Amino acid sequence: MGRIEDRVALVTGAGSGIGEAVALRFGEEGAVVIATDLHADTAERTARRIRDAGGRAEGHALDVTQEGAAAAVVTAVTADHGTLDILVNNAGAGSDTPPLELDLATWDRMLRTNLTGHFLCIQAALPPMIAAGRGSIISIGSVNGLTGLGEESYSAAKAGLVNLTQNIAIRFGEQGVRANLIAPGTIRTPIWAQRIAERPDAFDRLAGWYPLRRVGEPADVADAALFLASDESRWITGVVLPVDGGLTAGLGRMIADLSG
Ligand code: NDP
Repeated sequence: MGRIEDRVALVTGAGSGIGEAVALRFGEEGAVVIATDLHADTAERTARRIRDAGGRAEGHALDVTQEGAAAAVVTAVTADHGTLDILVNNAGAGSDTPPLELDLATWDRMLRTNLTGHFLCIQAALPPMIAAGRGSIISIGSVNGLTGLGEESYSAAKAGLVNLTQNIAIRFGEQGVRANLIAPGTIRTPIWAQRIAERPDAFDRLAGWYPLRRVGEPADVADAALFLASDESRWITGVVLPVDGGLTAGLGRMIADLSG
C-alpha cells in the first residue's frame, strides 16, 4: 500500500526537474498521476516513465499562464477519475535580469508564470476538493521568496506565493483542503542550465553556502512534497517548509567570519 494510494494528483511542470521527480515519486506511492507540462511530449514522457515502472499516469499539455487551461484539464481529470485530491503547483521559470534593466514584459512574464499561473491552478482545483471534503495543495516557492537573494521579478512572485498559500489555507481549511508551500534552495535541475554553461563550477561554489554542504537534488523536494501530499501531514496547513539544506536557518558565513 503506497503512502498516497489511489489519490489523484496533478503536477504542473512535470516534464523536467523537480516536477518530474515529484510525479515519479507520487507514482511509486500509488497515486494516479496527472503529469502536465507546457509541452505535451515532455508531460507524456514523464507519464510513460511512471507507467513503465508499474504506476498509473497520464500526460497533458498545460500552460499554467493561460486562463481556462487548468480548469479544462481539471474538468477532464474529474470526469475520468471522479476527483482531484492533490495539486502540486510546480511550473516556474526564472529571470536574473537586474532591476535597472528589467523591462515590463519580463516582469509581467515572471509574475504570470510564477504567481498568476499558480493561482489559476488553485482556483481550478478547489471546487472538486471542496466537493470531496479533502485536498492537499502544494506550491513550489523558493528561498528567493523569503529573503533578498536577487532575481527581483522571480523573487517577488515567489514571495507572493507565501501569502496566497496562507490565505488559501485559512479560507478552505474548514472544507478539508490544506495548502502548504515548499521553499527549495538550489536544486540541481535544468533551470540552471544557462548559468552552469557560463560557470560550470556554480553548484560546487554554492555548496559552501549550505550548512549541509551540498546543493539539493530533485528527490529532496519530491520527498517533502510526498509528506505534504499524504495524510502524514494531516494537521499541517498554511506553512512554508524550506527544503534548503539549512540555507535560511542563519548566516553561517558571518559566524565563520566572527570566529575565524
Ligand atoms: P525546470 O526548468 O527543470 O522545470 C520547470 C518546468 O516547468 C519545465 O518543464 C518547464 O517547461 C515548465 N514550465 C515553464 N513554464 C511553464 C508554464 N507556463 N506552464 C507549464 N509549465 C511550464 O525547473 P525546476 O525543476 O528547477 O523548477 C521547478 C520549480 O521549482 C519552479 O517553480 C522553480 O521556480 C522552483 N525552484 C527551483 C529551484 C532550483 O534551484 N532548481 C530553487 C527554488 C525553486 P519548459 O522546460 O518547456 O520551459
